[in-house]
Amino acid sequence: MGSIIELEKYAEENNIPIIQKEGIKFIEEYITNNNVQDILEIGSAIGYSAIKMALVNKNIKVTTIERDEKRYNEAIKNIEKFNMHSQINIIKGDALETNIEGYYDLIFIDAAKAQYIKFFEKYKKNLKSKGVIITDNLNFHGLTKDPESIKSKNLKALVKKINRYHDFLINNEEFITNYYNIGDGITVSRRKGD
Ligand code: SAM
Repeated sequence: MGSIIELEKYAEENNIPIIQKEGIKFIEEYITNNNVQDILEIGSAIGYSAIKMALVNKNIKVTTIERDEKRYNEAIKNIEKFNMHSQINIIKGDALETNIEGYYDLIFIDAAKAQYIKFFEKYKKNLKSKGVIITDNLNFHGLTKDPESIKSKNLKALVKKINRYHDFLINNEEFITNYYNIGDGITVSRRKGD
């Protein structure tokens, strides 16, 4: 039998980046309040958020994509421990090269931050009418406010890319986005007119 507390502990001890508690709580509430059933997640890590989302109710189906073999294998084991293989379908691969044909009420983008615009552009076609794309880490631990003060070149470049994603969402002609200062900064984007 799986334990959520153990998953959280394992992630912390092994430096596996999982969504913050307030962030997943926000998504769980969104799922309940909007009767979400079909979810696509980009970036499974060890399966924590996929399991938490699927636990909201038994009708929920989650498809989740992970490219890292070790994390993928750990996610498989965790999904088994929680006996959730009928609700969670995990795909091993790079989400930018994976072909997904289904339609989803919620697409949760939580993978390589430098690629957020690409994930958004690639997967928006998989949204159902009235579906939303939720993205985590828009604050990136508070660093997005002042990227110029960051000394590490790589980190500065990454933070600038996250800010570019934010601008991409704000200026998007097709989608309207709400930003929430919850967890590490969450956005919810829906098609205009939906
Ligand atoms: N959603 C998970 C949770 O909250 O439990 C955490 C995901 S972690 C922040 C990001 C994961 O995305 C990493 O495990 C990484 O290997 C994976 N990833 C990054 N880029 C990816 C890509 N292009 N395709 C698939 N997985 C990717």
